[in-house]
Amino acid sequence: ACLENDISGTDNKGFKGHDMLAPFTAGWQSTDVDPLIIEKSEGSHVYDMQGRKYLDTLAGLWCTALGGNEPRLVDAATKQLNTLPFYHSFWNRTTKPSLDLAKELLDMFTAKKMAKAFFTNSGSEANDTQVKLVWYYNNALGRPNKKKFIARAKAYHGSTLISASLTGLPALHQNFDLPAPFVLHTDCPHYWRYHLPGCYLFLLTLTFLLFLWCNKPFSVEMYMSGETEEEFSTRLAKNLEDLILKEGPETIAAFIAEPVMGAGGVIPPPATYFDKIQAVVKKYDILFIADEVICAFGRLGTMFGSDMYNIKPDLVSLAKALSSAYMPIGAVLVSPEVSDVIHSQSNKLGSFSHGFTYSGHPVACAVALEAIKIYKERNMVERVNRISPKFQEGLKAFSDSPIIGEIRGIGLILATEFANNKSPNDPFPPEWGVGAYFGAQCQKNGMLVRVAGDTIMMSPPFVVTPEELDELISIYGKALRETE
Ligand code: PLP
Repeated sequence: ACLENDISGTDNKGFKGHDMLAPFTAGWQSTDVDPLIIEKSEGSHVYDMQGRKYLDTLAGLWCTALGGNEPRLVDAATKQLNTLPFYHSFWNRTTKPSLDLAKELLDMFTAKKMAKAFFTNSGSEANDTQVKLVWYYNNALGRPNKKKFIARAKAYHGSTLISASLTGLPALHQNFDLPAPFVLHTDCPHYWRYHLPGCYLFLLTLTFLLFLWCNKPFSVEMYMSGETEEEFSTRLAKNLEDLILKEGPETIAAFIAEPVMGAGGVIPPPATYFDKIQAVVKKYDILFIADEVICAFGRLGTMFGSDMYNIKPDLVSLAKALSSAYMPIGAVLVSPEVSDVIHSQSNKLGSFSHGFTYSGHPVACAVALEAIKIYKERNMVERVNRISPKFQEGLKAFSDSPIIGEIRGIGLILATEFANNKSPNDPFPPEWGVGAYFGAQCQKNGMLVRVAGDTIMMSPPFVVTPEELDELISIYGKALRETE
């Protein structure tokens, strides 16, 4: 099945998708069905070739945080292009915008002190870089066997060889001979879908009663309503610890997680999840990598996702809203504990031989600096907190719909999951195409959403206005009625 929204454009003035091997697009679609060609953007809206206007509820691909026509970003790019369109950052040569951006990011990230910033062109390259940094670090420490990574089922970390391996979505592995053998996956922390219901726990308890009869193994509430979020988090942390012990803690280098899972279905962590997971990884000297590619710069209502969930990462990945997507750029932040070791090793070897031609591209860095300046000047975190209740509550009011299983989200990110009988265990038959139909109705009514099976995802620009949120909620409601 196609991961993407299988909805075509029409009347494309002869333009077809024939010439492109399009990312995340079904093969048949790039040959037989006209693509939707977007030609112009304005605020939270985009326009297709026929001038039809759509509310872009995904901010491009979770990235155009400042909307589609921020003149200050265009000016920043133009100014830099007119001064120095390119110079690299290899061999101790670099440019002012890249140095300024590195300093800015290190100052901004306060969940844990960070010492160095490394620049990439994308989130995937940031996560690939993380793996190489961690291997380099463990080689420097004389721990050649501490090389495995633990990621989570349903995580999205990118689509290069390594980042796709970290990703926990089967579609990114099938027929690509992935994941790579050094990547292990642990549980997805989706409480609604995976917590143990009360009746299951009751049977489980009966089974073990003989062994456990002196000790009450679960709380009374659990028998009635199933695992609480805290109990679910405890179980997931225990499963993580079991995996580490099974593999051997001396072989596990790092754990990677998005603060809120994005492309895997917008999954905020259950209560106490990150506290418990961090305690486990710390116990076994395993580095924690926060993949903040979607969560950073205000999307959740804090500057970084790590601030929201009290995550103290050793390494951080950034991209997307870093430049509000006006230029491709990603970054890795490295804590002093890790960077000191990396520096001592690279001194020994003569150089740190990793980097891209466009690492720290001056135009991308200039745009990112301006985007950050705007986030700060316009107090974007506060703005997200002010407008997100309308977004969250306006859409969660549809939770009673008989075809909706769960609506979940935080700040300006949200997913709707369609389910039969509102049950996580009773999905609609895939051939019914409930999610795709809903997505098509949204598009027909002037709104683009992200469809992945029966999950609909949204992450509007931070600059979305209350009026645009009214429009969003109204089109959502209409599309829902048409789908029911
Ligand atoms: N990490 C996360 C959390 C993402 O959501 C994405 C992209 O959606 C990536 C990494 C990969 O970023 P890119 O597509 O820029 O390579």
